[in-house]
Amino acid sequence: MQPSVGERRSQSFDRVLSSMCTEPHPAARAAAEAFLASNPGDPATYDAVAELEAEAVDLLGELAGLAEPHGYVTSGGTEANVQAVHAARNLAESDDPNVVAPESAHFSFTKAAELLGVELRTVPTDGDHRADVDAVAAAVDADTALVVGVAGSTEYGRVDPIPALADLASDAGSRLHVDAAWGGFHLPFSGHDWGFDDAAVDSLTVDPHKVGRAVVPAGGLLARDARTLDALAVETPYLETPTQASLTGTRSGAGVAAAAAALEELWPDGYRAEYERAIDLTEWLAVELGGRGYPVVGPELPLVAVDLPDALFEAVRGEGWKLAGTGTGEARIVVMPHVDRGTLESFLDALDRLAGTVGV
Ligand SMILES: *Cc1c(COP(=O)(O)O)cnc(C)c1O
Repeated sequence: MQPSVGERRSQSFDRVLSSMCTEPHPAARAAAEAFLASNPGDPATYDAVAELEAEAVDLLGELAGLAEPHGYVTSGGTEANVQAVHAARNLAESDDPNVVAPESAHFSFTKAAELLGVELRTVPTDGDHRADVDAVAAAVDADTALVVGVAGSTEYGRVDPIPALADLASDAGSRLHVDAAWGGFHLPFSGHDWGFDDAAVDSLTVDPHKVGRAVVPAGGLLARDARTLDALAVETPYLETPTQASLTGTRSGAGVAAAAAALEELWPDGYRAEYERAIDLTEWLAVELGGRGYPVVGPELPLVAVDLPDALFEAVRGEGWKLAGTGTGEARIVVMPHVDRGTLESFLDALDRLAGTVGV
């Protein structure tokens, strides 16, 4: 017989190498528990959690270089990206708007385009997996409502040339959205130009439930102008508040409170320390893997892609390592807060041992 749900335990993060979720901060867990039964979708009734949401948005704005941010805590990067496309479509003058994104853009843009009936034009990346500005320029036309730049790509951790994409977008009369769902909590410390104070960015995705160490679900949508959220707002006759800009109705008070708590605890020093820890470890791992003869896509943020022989990839997965591949088959190792030197040493030991047994 199956044990009851109450007897079961969530999996441990011991061998989780490719996920962008991680162990929440203890303060985030406690806040999630305390606000479990509140609904930030109805802010006039649940005003305590609405206040926390405003605080979380302010801190996310600070992190992304925006003094007076407009935005909300979404259910994740997917909702934030869908709403960025949604706002751009609603604000577009064209009857047939399109979105131009590099092929490295997250699959949530495919969902957005399908739902919203806009054309998604994906353009090839350059030789190092970043948006190719000339290719983006060639795809943009008078009907382009949105250009997407990725700041920390899901597969390779690459940061697109955001200022060049922003210039190109404004010349074309298009909006620019930056997807920093995963990278956003590292980028304030990495020296990249990626945020609202580096370029003419209109909207941005940054997920507290990834590197931010909130609980799931907690994503973030930020916008420079109030009109972005105005373009999303619908009237809400039966609530105390007149309009709502979120895609979901009832939302997770746990996620919102956890995002506020994690940001209050960790921004900026805790996140800086995590970036420094993770990038050092990532660079060490890349050298270790490269030294064993496996081709490595050099890390830009704390993420390494490595081309392992298929049999070895399968063998390590067989030992319970949670490892996923890129579209072209490299293993992706995301150095999240739960991934430490001990984890990676055991992983390398497993690779060395299994390489012998599978004969590679
Ligand atoms: C994870 C991720 C998303 C999707 O976010 P969810 O929270 O899984 O919906 C979007 N964009 C990028 C770059 C991501 O890494």
